[in-house]
Amino acid sequence: MAVPKKKTSKSRRNMRRSHHALKPNAHAECPNCGELKRPHHVCGACGYYDGRSVSESKAA
Ligand SMILES: [Zn+2]
Repeated sequence: MAVPKKKTSKSRRNMRRSHHALKPNAHAECPNCGELKRPHHVCGACGYYDGRSVSESKAA
């Protein structure tokens, strides 16, 4: 099994983990109702995606 030759220093370890910080969720306006929704997700308010209703609970 491959073994690291050197111990990863605290500095190196923390530099690597600098990319692990959680970013706030992206938002985009729903073109149908204007509510904030997540990109590439069905709108939680009106159930629309890609210009048409895809929600089963609220059938238009
Ligand atoms: Zn919507």
